[in-house]
Amino acid sequence: MPELPDLEVLTEVLAPKIAGREIIAARALRPGILKTVTPSFDALINARFTAIARRGKHLILTVRPDLHLVVHLMRAGRFVICRSNTRPTKATGLVISFADGEDLRLIENGPIKLARVYVVADPMDVSDIAHAGPEPLSPQFTVAALTAMVHGRRRQAKKLLTDQRMIAGIGSAYADEILFAAKISPIRYVNTLTDAEIARLHAAIVSVLATAIREIRARVGDSLFTDEVRDFLKVYNRTGEPCPVCGTPIAEIRYAQTRTYYCPQCQSGGKTIPDRQRWITR
Ligand SMILES: [Zn+2]
Repeated sequence: MPELPDLEVLTEVLAPKIAGREIIAARALRPGILKTVTPSFDALINARFTAIARRGKHLILTVRPDLHLVVHLMRAGRFVICRSNTRPTKATGLVISFADGEDLRLIENGPIKLARVYVVADPMDVSDIAHAGPEPLSPQFTVAALTAMVHGRRRQAKKLLTDQRMIAGIGSAYADEILFAAKISPIRYVNTLTDAEIARLHAAIVSVLATAIREIRARVGDSLFTDEVRDFLKVYNRTGEPCPVCGTPIAEIRYAQTRTYYCPQCQSGGKTIPDRQRWITR
């Protein structure tokens, strides 16, 4: 699933490819992908995208100050640009056709299709955007803001980091990387963090995300990548490999659909967290 660094680079890559091109058709091929009724898709016709921005895990494709196409790619949504006469496949959920004979398409390979699209007058009309927490790379996200967030909150660290209403844009993969960098257990209750640990967590959030953006940007160039670049991450998907800090094999917690990767030595006092360790779900 794309997270903040992937989506940040995607907005940079996508903007010059679609901005300014005249839209002549917009249609949803998968019923249910479009979550709004008004304005209608037809409002996009004869218009052009003028800017692309990211808020949390949402992409905001702006046409005018009062007209935006908002997209959440969810797990498997990807953008492709192709000739308009290319036949759409079962994976194609959304087609935006430009006057010059090319399409911007949203595709989702695999059986699970969860991507969501909204046409809105104001991005804040999308409830998840209206309720999103601060952007972790914005000046508003200070150590004091994180301290206020964790204060008195009996929630596990990974749950807090991946809660979009707390901090916007972080998913499972980057939460694991951040907690590894901060040397904090994913199941640690945030109300038990010391001031020094909160400061370390804040620094890890900022540095892991900023480094990832630079790394992904350098790798993908101007290509509209369809697979996330994740091989530079230190614990994500590295079960059994030696921790780059201490050499202990990276461990994994399996819970429901989620995999959590961590170093037992660096993050958990040398102890392995059992698979069945109960995650607090709220
Ligand atoms: Zn380690």
